[in-house]
Amino acid sequence: MNPSERIKELIRIIEQHNHSYYVLNAPVISDYEYDMLYKELEQLELMYPDEKVSNSPTQRVGSVVKGFDTELHTQRMYSLDNSYNKEDLYEWVSRLKKVLGETPIEYTCELKYDGASISLTYEKGQLTKALTRGDGTQGDNVTTNIRTIKSIPLSLKGDYPPFFEIRGEVVLPFKNFKKLNDLRIFNGEEPFMNPRNTASGSLKIQDPAIVSQRGLDCLLYQLAGEFPEINTQFDFLEKAKSWGFKVPNTAKKSSSIEEVLKFISFYDTARHDLPYETDGVVVKVNSLDFQAELGYTAKSPRWAMAYKFKAVSVESELESIDYQVGRTGAITPVANLSPVLLAGTVVKRASLHNADQIEKLDIRIGDTVFVEKGGEIIPKITGVDLSKRSLNASPLQYITHCPKCNSPLHRVAGDAKHFCLNERECPPQIIGKISHFISRKALNIDGLGEETVSLLHENKLIQSYADLYTLNPILLLQLDRMAQKSVDNMLKGIAASKLIPFEKVLFGLGIRFVGETVAKKLARGFGSMTALKKANYESLIALDEIGGVIAKSVLLFFEDPFHMDLVNRLESYGLQMEISNKLKVQGSKLNGANFVISGVFEKHSRPELKELIEINGGKVVGSLSSKTTYLLAGDQMGPSKKTKAASLNITLISEDAFVEMIV
Ligand code: AMP
Ligand code: ZN
Repeated sequence: MNPSERIKELIRIIEQHNHSYYVLNAPVISDYEYDMLYKELEQLELMYPDEKVSNSPTQRVGSVVKGFDTELHTQRMYSLDNSYNKEDLYEWVSRLKKVLGETPIEYTCELKYDGASISLTYEKGQLTKALTRGDGTQGDNVTTNIRTIKSIPLSLKGDYPPFFEIRGEVVLPFKNFKKLNDLRIFNGEEPFMNPRNTASGSLKIQDPAIVSQRGLDCLLYQLAGEFPEINTQFDFLEKAKSWGFKVPNTAKKSSSIEEVLKFISFYDTARHDLPYETDGVVVKVNSLDFQAELGYTAKSPRWAMAYKFKAVSVESELESIDYQVGRTGAITPVANLSPVLLAGTVVKRASLHNADQIEKLDIRIGDTVFVEKGGEIIPKITGVDLSKRSLNASPLQYITHCPKCNSPLHRVAGDAKHFCLNERECPPQIIGKISHFISRKALNIDGLGEETVSLLHENKLIQSYADLYTLNPILLLQLDRMAQKSVDNMLKGIAASKLIPFEKVLFGLGIRFVGETVAKKLARGFGSMTALKKANYESLIALDEIGGVIAKSVLLFFEDPFHMDLVNRLESYGLQMEISNKLKVQGSKLNGANFVISGVFEKHSRPELKELIEINGGKVVGSLSSKTTYLLAGDQMGPSKKTKAASLNITLISEDAFVEMIV
């Protein structure tokens, strides 16, 4: 097969695997095998740039765009009429009957996905455009961002029409929303309020690389265009599925409003088990001929009706308020409630966000409050039942001092939250910062968790992450619960972190607003800690995606002698302080050893591992033989390799064990 044919074949195979994984949730090959196909395609496209096509799966993440063009929809994107109860639905049906007469009407019930509407254009089976709803007549062209969503096919399969538009909802599944927020909280950023706003906000980010990490999904529900072979909405959905789109299997045909009501009442509860947010049901007249007869009002189709679920709300009593201190010193008030059942889970706590929120609600201890579960993971308090307030309930005084270290709290103009500034002594901040430093995406130190960090801090063995590198094993062994083996593991993990790349070290420092992506940008932009220390406002904001807030935060961090001292100490212990392919450990510890590398690794790329082996005197060979000394095994290594290694008596070592061999 010539390269051009192979490229086409790979594109087809990879898109097929994307479909199995992201649309059907049923992968058929391992991640490793997928990566191999993907790499082969990347390699071929690099060698034969003329053969590269814009809809190749390698081109999902495009380059940064400056603003989005507004473009006309070929067919208007309407809103939906809303109904809230049975009566509303019966009224709608009688309006339908006025137009359609007494012929029986069939309906399609679908869930109303709560996200951002999108209209996708396909020409000759290729995705060519994606527009937001905008004002219904024209929307923003967000194609570059939409392409990053892997469940959206770039090329279609089957008997699709040559030109059409398809409409759907871009949603952020709960799981990904939670992941994103955990990370934000970890990075000292305000968490997002709910999946819907986050989904629609994500479509307007100018860097598709960031969008691709948000974990968006797209559920399709409507076709726009001429489809002579399709007669009903339900068939529409089935067809779209067969062309490769993600259409949830929840849609159902109903022959009466009673059946529709059953669907609604079922999903009123069952929706809480869905992976994404829904806010109602959309009932559509199934026959497309009927739809054409019914037409549209100025605002919405007459043939469809949304039925809105009621937000689930319960009453509970506010028992007390805890004030949590985050890693950055941010204070978050959390309400302790008398336990109450809400949408299938027992709720005892609700977030109150900040002082303004408490003031706005005028919430008092002992109040009966309304607790609601919207799209948010943590339930929220939406109001107070004033009729039940006791006469002697007094307004809440927000705390003025840190509950953990008692230093006065500050609130800077523009910040919603109060902060404890006693970064050096406030225990939750110290422990939070060290825990951040050792976390997987930062220095990735095995053998040490948040609990151990607390223990070490309580026993005055560490005050900052720099102290990790001077831990004394004799003192460690004196602690309760610390056996020789755990001490060894911990120290090995700490030593191995000296190989972690500069960008992760920078992320680990815990500079406010410097998350993983920003750390990468700074590391690549400045190249070294020395250069970054000398940065000024102008040179910082000159970097893509680095705005004033981040720039100021970076400057503030390095202005502080306490931070400078920490960074200098890390440097003196030998951590990576510059972008470099040349990792610093060099030696002859691997002289004479032959390695085969296989699988996917967490901490180092394969080229990095190869380099590490070579600068330490070892050799990397392609395949297993009796001359192989070690099989460096990552995740998802094929089982046949394992068997072969065993039969040849070759030692299998993990990435961590390997690093330990050379440090
Ligand atoms: P609204 O914005 O409340 O007028 O509701 C209309 C919006 O509901 C549409 O623009 C779609 O984005 C969204 N929607 C979600 N799920 C569906 C569905 N299954 N069918 C039609 N529209 C839907
Ligand atoms: Zn404090």
